[in-house]
Amino acid sequence: MSPEVLISEVGPRDGLQSVAATMPTEHKKRWIAALHAAGLREIEVASFVPAKLLPQMADAAEVVAHALSLPGWTVMALVPNRKGAEAALKAGAHKLTLPVSASAAHSQANVRKSPLEMVDEVRAVLALRDELAPRAKVEAGISTAFGCTLQGVVPEDDVLRLAVALAEAGVDDVGLSDTTGMANPAQVRRLFRRLAAEIGDKAGAAHMHNTRGLGLANCLAAYDVGVRTFDSSLAGLGGCPYAPGASGNVVTEDLVFMFEAMGVRTGVDLGKLIAARGPLAAGLPGEPLHGMTPESGLPKNFTPAEAAHA
Ligand code: ZN
Repeated sequence: MSPEVLISEVGPRDGLQSVAATMPTEHKKRWIAALHAAGLREIEVASFVPAKLLPQMADAAEVVAHALSLPGWTVMALVPNRKGAEAALKAGAHKLTLPVSASAAHSQANVRKSPLEMVDEVRAVLALRDELAPRAKVEAGISTAFGCTLQGVVPEDDVLRLAVALAEAGVDDVGLSDTTGMANPAQVRRLFRRLAAEIGDKAGAAHMHNTRGLGLANCLAAYDVGVRTFDSSLAGLGGCPYAPGASGNVVTEDLVFMFEAMGVRTGVDLGKLIAARGPLAAGLPGEPLHGMTPESGLPKNFTPAEAAHA
């Protein structure tokens, strides 16, 4: 039976680029192979950015090549611009993800462009994709969609206007990211409902953060209004946590546990997923690993969704 939700693992990209240490390439490969073995079917493995800025990602092309050698999953790379897209497409990534900020203040601070000016960069990436790798997919992830540390409130109309512009530019899907961990479930329901109403089946993933403890609640709210792709990170690695003890990104193990316990098939084997923390810990000694499910263990006689449906 095919999974009912797609868990898109972002640890090797979002996670590793947020920690100070650099995981050696061989360790990255072992970790990625363990994530594949657990049944994950989409993974963001690298950022194509100058190694000067992010030495953790200097081996992006080699890591993509390794991930591509494992069958049956979508290998994604984050690219900030056309130059990064060129390198990622040449490395053979199946899908590119481009962050576009909905907050004018955040966008100016990061890329010195307005959100709508960034849509031109996305158009340039799409043209390059058509030329170099027409089968590759391009996703836009709207960052600061639920609030911004610089600007505070990000008007929902700004988010929707940007999403429509990106969809019209030709991206395959548009996701919403709670970059700063400010979202609440009512807001998540409202915004994803509006997103689907505006751009239909181009409405994409929910990328939630657990900064204030609402990561899973926000994922469930998104699920309730029809979202079926969720970004998360093994052991909650990355996502710039501000609160000690809280993870930044939603913890993949807890997210998979929630869905499987609800009877919603993820296609992921929880035991193998928890085992994938081993190679992560080996490659990043001393880095805190988050997750309530791995710490508590699975409940007695726990029945994953697959078995419950059979
Ligand atoms: Zn994140």
